[in-house]
Amino acid sequence: MNIPYINAYVVSVPGSTFLLCGPCPHCSKWHTHGIAEGHRSPHCIGQRNSGYIVDIIGSAPEELFHATFKLKMASRRDVVERVKQRISDLLTQVVPYTK
Ligand SMILES: [Zn+2]
Repeated sequence: MNIPYINAYVVSVPGSTFLLCGPCPHCSKWHTHGIAEGHRSPHCIGQRNSGYIVDIIGSAPEELFHATFKLKMASRRDVVERVKQRISDLLTQVVPYTK
């Protein structure tokens, strides 16, 4: 079974721990995880799916974390498109990690 890789971004949220945010290839929403690379099983997937492998790309503004929740809750197509546009704007502010 081929397990997809995703780009994930570290976000620092005040009063919370550092989090990873990344786009899910199975549901096209964004999910959050604790910080670690490797294989993850997001809650959206069923038994037939393989999850994904997280590749940490860099650190992103805190707003990315909030945008992932807006996207999760959005059902209207115009809202989804607006939040996705905001996310792609925020990804231009990512500070890359060197490995
Ligand atoms: Zn998903």
